[in-house]
Amino acid sequence: MPYPHLLKPLDLGFTTLKNRVIMGSMHTGLEDIANSHKRMAAFYEARAKGGCGLIVTGGFAPNKESVVVQGGPIFDNEIEAQKHRIITEAVHAHGAKIVVQLLHTGRYAYSKNLVAPSAIKAPINPYTPREMTEEDIQRTISDYAQCAAMCVLAGYDGVEIMGSEGYLINQFIALRTNQRTDRWGGAFENRIRFALEVVRAVRARAGQNFIIIFRLSMLDLVEGGSTWDEVVALAKELEKAGVSIINTGIGWHEARVPTIATMVPRAAYTAVTRRMMGQVKIPLISTNRINDPAVADAVIARGDSDLVSMARPFLADAEFVNKAAAGRPETINTCIGCNQACLDHVLVGNITSCLVNPFACHELEVQVEATTTPQRMAVVGAGPAGMAAATLLAERGHQVTLFDAAADVGGQFNLARKIPGKEEFGETLRYFRNRLDALKVDLQFNRPVSADDLKGYAHVVLATGIVPRTPAIDGIHHPKVTSYIDLIEGRKQAGKRVAIIGAGGIGFDVAELLSHASPHSDDPASPVNLEAYQKEWGIDVQYGDVRGGLTAPQMPAAVREIWLLQRKTGKLGEGLARTTGWARRLLLQKRDVHMLGGVEYRKIDDAGLHIAIDGKEQVLDVDTVVVCAGQDPRRDLVQGLDALGIAYTLVGGADVAAELDAKRAIAQATEVALEL
Ligand code: FAD
Ligand code: NAP
Ligand code: SF4
Repeated sequence: MPYPHLLKPLDLGFTTLKNRVIMGSMHTGLEDIANSHKRMAAFYEARAKGGCGLIVTGGFAPNKESVVVQGGPIFDNEIEAQKHRIITEAVHAHGAKIVVQLLHTGRYAYSKNLVAPSAIKAPINPYTPREMTEEDIQRTISDYAQCAAMCVLAGYDGVEIMGSEGYLINQFIALRTNQRTDRWGGAFENRIRFALEVVRAVRARAGQNFIIIFRLSMLDLVEGGSTWDEVVALAKELEKAGVSIINTGIGWHEARVPTIATMVPRAAYTAVTRRMMGQVKIPLISTNRINDPAVADAVIARGDSDLVSMARPFLADAEFVNKAAAGRPETINTCIGCNQACLDHVLVGNITSCLVNPFACHELEVQVEATTTPQRMAVVGAGPAGMAAATLLAERGHQVTLFDAAADVGGQFNLARKIPGKEEFGETLRYFRNRLDALKVDLQFNRPVSADDLKGYAHVVLATGIVPRTPAIDGIHHPKVTSYIDLIEGRKQAGKRVAIIGAGGIGFDVAELLSHASPHSDDPASPVNLEAYQKEWGIDVQYGDVRGGLTAPQMPAAVREIWLLQRKTGKLGEGLARTTGWARRLLLQKRDVHMLGGVEYRKIDDAGLHIAIDGKEQVLDVDTVVVCAGQDPRRDLVQGLDALGIAYTLVGGADVAAELDAKRAIAQATEVALEL
């Protein structure tokens, strides 16, 4: 059997999980839509059908103060429980188990009625919480129990009590957020009382044959978090209180350390769970940046944990487990950790989906139907848009030819994957390449296509991407100047002092590439990358008495002096994604990259790049100037196609280059391919 450790059943005494794969909790936004139970059922059913052993739902609030946002879903009554039956029945039909995450956000609630152990505002929330009274605490404990009872009624197999990421229970546990002087604060025994009382109350109401997972913050990554001895002591008390499984929590939401972004090496935190193995008898789950069945299997095989939780990988591919079990891991659409269509959506109130799988969370709305009129279709450009269009057109029964001037698929993703911390992007190319082969798409590489080549096709999807913009700066053709493409592809080398014109996504990536001093491996699971990541961010997974597992960051000596420039005034990187932009900015700051806004470009000559800020002239004495000044659509085939009367549709960068990213490219190409 492939992946024997991962796919081995786990007997919990009163119930058996068919494998060791947990789909971790994700707030998809579906929870917030009234009467969306059918949509949630379809979403979870697809993952259950895809082979997952145990699913944890998005967080549900036990009472009104605990919601993520005002008006968020509360799971406290029988009417709601009856509505959930459609979800549990759909999942159980495929032999999987499903538990509800009980989430009390405490001081993270984005509402005016928030409560917390102490009235201390979170740095990531504008609202200050009210300190909970004894009555509040008692009521909240019984609200958790009531919620668990409703989960029993709805047919759920259990609950996951969210005790990490800096939410309410975690806020009681940590000195950082608990400054009470009554029996719920002060000494460690008092601070963990709330967690234990919640578990005991839930166990008492839900009975013995009910899974209780406790998500325990094993590494807070904030000052004033727990010591390791406290974490272990709490785990032992949780076991005694009736917890069935302990899940690993890593980092509070307010932590200034990226813990799940693509820059985090694969399985970066399983060593933390490993330290807990043997301290308790109940099974442990490891988490964070595990997106591959071989990595997950190895985690269990080397004794880091008993089970593995993966969340976003199930957005990217609902069939993850079945494909692994069939010995076909190369067909898995791998989560690349970008957060662009999942967490970044949730933070602005949009429904979660997935950059590499735009069908995720839209299972009921979008159906792939076979065409009734199969035709010869040409797709020009094998970047993300072209790959998505070609595969879906072929899947629907069209006869598809995919052309690219380059030697293989990928387009600009071939550049993205060369940026340290974006190695995962290569997985998307592997996935599409295999899918195109399986669907027998006619692949024509090294073929720069002209309009004449496209005669005879019923329709052409033009996915020709972009042309990098060349700004009209005096001296822009000076030998010091290079395009980001030549630089990333290694045709041009950067000197020791570099100016980057343009601080969009690509400017930041080029700054990352040129400032990266640590040893580097192209393997996203490499121990070399792991060590460099831990040092740069000051993470100590072997922490003892130091609270929170933080240590002083160790920055390698700078390899270059870099200036990252933009014409706009204000902070650089403002347009970067919410969940990852702050970390990318912080990393460049740690590496002493100069970030200048409000720049006027005067000229480039042998002396360097001449600029002015607020009218003050200066010369940046640089060896290299890299141009990352945005992009324009590549539409050189349009005129010819119009002249020949060949029908075409523009997608991706060829359609609109401004603010283009792969999420839009793939989603738009998918929509077009569903229509043709
Ligand atoms: P492209 O990827 O540009 O592909 C166009 C293809 O068309 C090319 O392969 C080209 O060879 C081919 N072509 C053009 N004309 C012809 C012709 N006449 N005949 C044959 N073939 C032709 N996006 C994100 O979402 N997240 C990121 O983190 C991210 N990071 C990036 C990092 C870097 C360094 C770069 C450069 C880009 C990054 N992007 C990122 C942007 C992302 O790669 C693009 O948005 C995406 O590739 C656009 O897809 P596309 O299919 O429209 O075009
Ligand atoms: P971009 O994000 O639009 O940034 C272009 C930069 O160039 C801006 O800083 C802009 O700032 C500057 N600029 C524009 N016109 C200029 C001119 N004429 N002269 C000088 N400077 C000029 O584009 P990009 O960096 O090329 O990225 C392309 C797309 O890829 C982006 O839309 C992005 O979404 C995507 N991408 C995403 C990621 C990611 O991590 N999500 C990473 C890389 C790329 P000023 O006008 O203020 O100077
Ligand atoms: Fe993974 Fe990106 Fe998809 Fe989110 S959007 S599930 S991070 S690939």
